Amino acid sequence: MDQNQKDKLLLAIKEEVIACRKCELYKTRILPVVGQGSHDAKIMFIGEAPGANESKTGVPFCGSAGQILNQLLESVGIKREEVYIANILKDRPPGNREPAPEEIVACAPYLLRQIAVIEPKIIATLGNYATHFILEQFGVPNSRLGISQLRGKKFAARDPLTQKSYAIIPLYHPAVAVYDSRKLDSLKDDFKILGEQLKEV
Ligand code: URA
Repeated sequence: MDQNQKDKLLLAIKEEVIACRKCELYKTRILPVVGQGSHDAKIMFIGEAPGANESKTGVPFCGSAGQILNQLLESVGIKREEVYIANILKDRPPGNREPAPEEIVACAPYLLRQIAVIEPKIIATLGNYATHFILEQFGVPNSRLGISQLRGKKFAARDPLTQKSYAIIPLYHPAVAVYDSRKLDSLKDDFKILGEQLKEV
């Protein structure tokens, strides 16, 4: 798909998300967090849902978890502008509660369409929630294992929507590393794997 077509399709998704009222979350929306980054990204990071800072700015991972993510990207020489960052939910669940099943059913199709347009080579899932959703969606066996067993491993998967192949690499959610230096060390190790994988694609 050429750049023009990608830009057009992603803009159409953005406009749909802005107008979306498919679940109750639109009622407490400040700004939806659609996604940010290169439309040609080789790596797509997928988080769970926007937090308070994100819903005020419309920018994914711009709070304390975002600072950690920036630091991890920098540690392996990946620029934030060259990746794409999105979440399963585009709106913040009040009080940062977990996404409700009906919210995922309503919202995840936007993310799956973003993946189909961007066609990243690597999907890096951040935390349990995004990991389980993406592995299950892409039919990867053992997808219900905990993140500490899945993190840093590489799973080959095929998108049921487009039949395109991806490497899925689960990672701890950067938020868990804000106060836990061992998790930060694990994340640093796993980002090295991500950096190596990026050189291969
Ligand atoms: N946590 C997430 O999962 N996503 C964000 O955008 C911010 C924090």
